[in-house]
Amino acid sequence: MNRQRLCVLGSTGSIGENTLDVVARNPEYFRVLALAAHRNAEKLAQQCARFDAEFAVIADPALEPELAAQLQRCGSRAEILSGQEGLIRAATLPEVDTVMAAIVGAAGLEPTFRAAQAGKRILLANKESLVIAGQVFIAEARRNGAMVLPVDSEHNAIFQSLPPNFTEGLDAIGVEHIILTASGGPFLDTPTEQLAAVTPAQACDHPNWSMGRKISVDSATLMNKGLEVIEARWLFSARPEQIKVLVHPQSIVHSMVSYRDGSVIAQLGTPDMRTPIANVLAWPERIEAGVEHLNLAQINDLSFREPDLDRFPCLALAFQAMEAGDSAPAVLNAANEIAVEQFLEGRIGFTRIPELVETVLNRVPVMPLASLDDVLEQDRLARACAMDYATKCND
Ligand code: NAD
Ligand code: MG
Repeated sequence: MNRQRLCVLGSTGSIGENTLDVVARNPEYFRVLALAAHRNAEKLAQQCARFDAEFAVIADPALEPELAAQLQRCGSRAEILSGQEGLIRAATLPEVDTVMAAIVGAAGLEPTFRAAQAGKRILLANKESLVIAGQVFIAEARRNGAMVLPVDSEHNAIFQSLPPNFTEGLDAIGVEHIILTASGGPFLDTPTEQLAAVTPAQACDHPNWSMGRKISVDSATLMNKGLEVIEARWLFSARPEQIKVLVHPQSIVHSMVSYRDGSVIAQLGTPDMRTPIANVLAWPERIEAGVEHLNLAQINDLSFREPDLDRFPCLALAFQAMEAGDSAPAVLNAANEIAVEQFLEGRIGFTRIPELVETVLNRVPVMPLASLDDVLEQDRLARACAMDYATKCND
């Protein structure tokens, strides 16, 4: 494998740290050129020093002086970039081959989109980019020869279960449908009447995965699975009816592909994001990921069931937004980001999340999306509408 020169967007987060862990185990294959974070200047500086990065990007420009002090303290001579321009510059540096897109939420869209325009190899964790801008994003990546490799464990499992020519469409390769597995989150069996009172701490306490707070709440509402359904649509050129969801509480089977002849191909592993991260970092080769290997004899039970869309309306809303198409998924995502933020800040209850998303979907008309600007405009409109509703909930 040629040594890849990396930019990690969101290096201080859960995916970012797991990425650097895999990189540290395989120093001969990777050179870290740029690291980017939102506000955690201290951790960013430590990472820059440890990996001898050439660029340190802080998304909040007010923290530039703090980052400079931290870099000096750690003995790193990384050049400081900041703000949205800094993120975009790091993601498109001519010396960078591969961009790990691991910023959370719509904030990750623009730098990831610019990396696609620059023809980079994109390791995509930021699922929101594809939910908001799917068609425009994939078209831009194809036009510029940017390869998009999925980090999300379900999509990575599907990627590993498909033949290499899957970009020609699922029908051409004999796929009947794909099955995304869902753990069901921490409230899978919680009585419905108790859901209104659950706390942010309970929602973030995922039974199988350790993740950032936003995606943890999304896993608890099953909106995460809804976002993943839309993500799968664009990654694998799937028609909406070709995407199914099964609840699998053990999180061992990471997803499956069902073929015309009755074969079902799955990828299994212990629930540890370093496996899909190592897979995309090294693809098509395989590297050490530091992951505990699966011992199936010790696992008594692998079970599967249909998701309960009445108890978890966010999943149903995501399917509806996918069917509606155009700007509907962008509106769904923006409303959800606001709802999750408000929930984490203790301003709205857990069951208000689907209510808020549904209200915003009903209020913001569906518009065609032809460019990144169109996408960003719909995102803004939906956020304003969501804030308006959230404020009224608080009154
Ligand atoms: P996290 O909250 O742990 O980390 C988020 C990272 O993004 C941090 O480095 C933070 O500094 C950065 N960031 C946040 N806001 C930013 C902004 N406005 N500008 C620039 N940087 C910003 O989140 P995470 O769990 O690592 O998730 C990252 C992405 O990966 C999300 O899109 C999530 O859906 C996806 N993902 C995560 C997991 C997981 O196991 N954590 C699994 C699958 C997919
Ligand atoms: Mg996932």
